[in-house]
Amino acid sequence: MTDSSEIAERLARVRAAVATAAREANRDPAEITLIGVSKRKPLAAIEAAFAAGLRDIGENHADELLEKAAAFAPDGLRYHFIGRLASRRARKVARQAMLIHTLDSLRLARKLSLIAQEEGREVRALVQVNQGGEATKGGVAPDATAALARAAAALSGLRVVGLMSIPPFDDRPRDWFRQLRQLRDVVAAETGIALPELSMGMSHDFAEAIAEGATLVRVGTAIFGARD
Ligand SMILES: *Cc1c(COP(=O)(O)O)cnc(C)c1O
Repeated sequence: MTDSSEIAERLARVRAAVATAAREANRDPAEITLIGVSKRKPLAAIEAAFAAGLRDIGENHADELLEKAAAFAPDGLRYHFIGRLASRRARKVARQAMLIHTLDSLRLARKLSLIAQEEGREVRALVQVNQGGEATKGGVAPDATAALARAAAALSGLRVVGLMSIPPFDDRPRDWFRQLRQLRDVVAAETGIALPELSMGMSHDFAEAIAEGATLVRVGTAIFGARD
């Protein structure tokens, strides 16, 4: 579905739902960044969403992110990287993405730190947590999160600003989101690192994520339509 009026309508509905969820949680909607996940959608879909006011785009494959960012990068558009990051793609992705949501090893942290130093700028990242211990998903175990956050934050040029998760898909998303927020609170207290960002919630559960403190929601289908 790349019809631009359809994308604009879907986007308006999702934004309204984000604002409603924020108000219901006594939160300022401005605290929440809506990221449109455009993976496997053509560039025209991103252009349509940008024209309708969306400013944050998420991609989960490095090559796809790089291709799209090379073709469409108007002022104000921010790309986020939300997939597994291979070392050999790290430099280019770090150049294009304003935030890497998927830091999940000390090896990758060291690589990003080196890149940041070589390129003379800061690289921002979230530690990805694998809450359900699922083999198909990236991320560190909850009880390994503090150690990675502490070690990564100590590297120069790399800034760890929060946590990200794709919890198991079940009927209690809110419990998973609450656990991630509580983990963030514990890790921040333990390490002394400010971790203001929580990247959690997708098309089917972003309202629950906002209720539990999400600051970044990653919404694909609800904005861009089903993927083939
Ligand atoms: C695809 C994807 C999303 C968006 O999923 P929808 O269910 O289409 O909203 C969010 N986060 C990550 C990491 C993804 O890969």
